[in-house]
Amino acid sequence: MSVAKQLMAGRILEEQLFPYPGLLPKDREVLGAMVDAIDQFLGPMRQDFKRWDREASQPAEFIQGLRDLGLFGLIIPEEFGGLGLSNAAYARVLSQSSTHDSSVSLTVGAHSSIGMKGLLLFGTPAQKARYLPKLASGDMIAAFCLTESGAGSDAASIRTTASLNADGSWRLNGEKIWITNGGIADLYTVFARTASTAGKITAFVVEAKWPGVSHGPHEDKMGIRASSTTTVSFTDVRVPAENVLDAEGKGFKVAMAILNNGRTGLGGGAVGGMKALIGLATAQAQARKQFDQPIAGFGLVREKIAQMTVDCFAAESVVWMVAHYIDSGHEDYSVEAAISKVFASEALQRAAYEALQIAAGNGFMRDLPYEQITRDCRILTIFEGTNEVLRLYIALSGLKDLGKSLGELKIAVDDIFNHPIKGFGVLTDYAEKRLTYATGVGRDKILTPLPPELKGAAAVYERYTLELAKAAGYLLRRYGKSIADRQHDLKRVTDIAIDLFVGLCVLSRAAALRSAPADAGAQAVAIARTFAQQAKRRMANNVRRIARNEDEEMNRLAGFILDQGSYPWDIVS
Ligand SMILES: Cc1cc2nc3c(=O)[nH]c(=O)nc-3n(C[C@H](O)[C@H](O)[C@H](O)COP(=O)(O)OP(=O)(O)OC[C@H]3O[C@@H](n4cnc5c(N)ncnc54)[C@H](O)[C@@H]3O)c2cc1C
Repeated sequence: MSVAKQLMAGRILEEQLFPYPGLLPKDREVLGAMVDAIDQFLGPMRQDFKRWDREASQPAEFIQGLRDLGLFGLIIPEEFGGLGLSNAAYARVLSQSSTHDSSVSLTVGAHSSIGMKGLLLFGTPAQKARYLPKLASGDMIAAFCLTESGAGSDAASIRTTASLNADGSWRLNGEKIWITNGGIADLYTVFARTASTAGKITAFVVEAKWPGVSHGPHEDKMGIRASSTTTVSFTDVRVPAENVLDAEGKGFKVAMAILNNGRTGLGGGAVGGMKALIGLATAQAQARKQFDQPIAGFGLVREKIAQMTVDCFAAESVVWMVAHYIDSGHEDYSVEAAISKVFASEALQRAAYEALQIAAGNGFMRDLPYEQITRDCRILTIFEGTNEVLRLYIALSGLKDLGKSLGELKIAVDDIFNHPIKGFGVLTDYAEKRLTYATGVGRDKILTPLPPELKGAAAVYERYTLELAKAAGYLLRRYGKSIADRQHDLKRVTDIAIDLFVGLCVLSRAAALRSAPADAGAQAVAIARTFAQQAKRRMANNVRRIARNEDEEMNRLAGFILDQGSYPWDIVS
């Protein structure tokens, strides 16, 4: 069962959260060597990365270096020549490469996380045997082709077509945009609308060398400039029948499964970026003196360093919990994966902002890496699902499941919500008890033995799991199906779910680390307590704002400005 969705039903699936999972011994062994090799190769290249950012290129010799390191075969099983790393170890590798340069992680990540993931998840034995060895060695680099000019978040509206030829092969026509690795890939996972099954989407494996396949020039981007991003066009490309992935008409499912499975790569990269920023900010705060002392002595600078650390620990805790779910064969992890992407990407952007602020004027100068990191990490809230769309997905997935289970309990619960005191947040004790009785909501306590100093944090999550379930139940009853249009409320539900799920991952990890040597254990416990207090304030605010908010005013204001087309006030008129 999905831990995050169950939170919306008022249940903490403790056995899926505690104890915090460790790395497999085999992964640990490979990772030790791999992390060192990455540092040795990428560490001395800081000036090159800076130059390639300006020039917007990644030289072929450098990509050969990535091949030689084995970075294209990370998650491909050993039988096909790869390293066979788990999702957790793969995310850790991307975390390491991201401490050096985001474009590198993107080249590797787009290949593994999304480019050839379809073959791993859905490939037939013949497809795997044909392509995976070359993908593992990096002789073939992969890319994922979904987005089109008219189909971004609304991926189901793609217009690329695949029509069936008389011999059973397919003819592919269309253009994809903003494809990572577009200019260097040898193999594309392409999504197209197939005419023969009422316009359903189908996934195809397409070789770049086939007639009719071409790509546009390298896009001039704000960040991750060295990473190849191009259009990829298909003009009457003949695709053999055996290159359909999974089955005809199953392409949308394939695309979503790939994106869900790949999200920990992005999350791992975000954690690596944060670790690099914490290192930079620490050095800067200690070296820079103002008012006759290192700025590291000032409370407002220390607050930023501490907050970056709390956020990084939280992102790390949630990303590797989700990686563990994937590795241990959980099937329903898409909501948790979305939570980890949203949280980690936003935490990295906050860290980039604060680290640059600590470096201040120096940080604004292009000599130092802050401005590049700030530009590079901006993309993370945009691609692999925008954070807005993922937030809607998180809330709606949880509410859908809750709706089903409450539907079964309709009779038992209905009278509570038809009680004269209808407003959420003012349920009487009686109504709360009835809700608990009817749904089991609120009965869940964390039973894992926790040290006394973590019990307060656990109580926060227990209480707000109940609040989330009450909020979710209230919204479902009040708005029914039209809840899908109440985006402000859905965002609040999601943000509570994010705080709960991330907070529980932090709690679990801190409990596991509490005996770590040299104050690291005590500080991990302190982070868990701090995160719980901060989360409590955010959750309380979100709960309150479900009942009382200015959504209607804001909607009307947006309507007014959209009609005007510009800001209408000026102090001169
Ligand atoms: C550098 C880069 C690399 C990329 N790499 C790849 C790749 O390798 N393969 C690939 O297929 N694609 C790739 N993409 C495309 C990327 O996945 C899309 O940009 C992303 O899905 C968002 O689509 P869009 O940019 O068209 O935004 P839109 O969908 O047009 O969204 C615009 C805004 O509206 C919001 N919005 C949209 N729908 C809703 C809604 N229902 N409710 C509320 N808000 C909404 C969005 O959150 C966003 O803020 C890449 C993009 C970039 C910039």
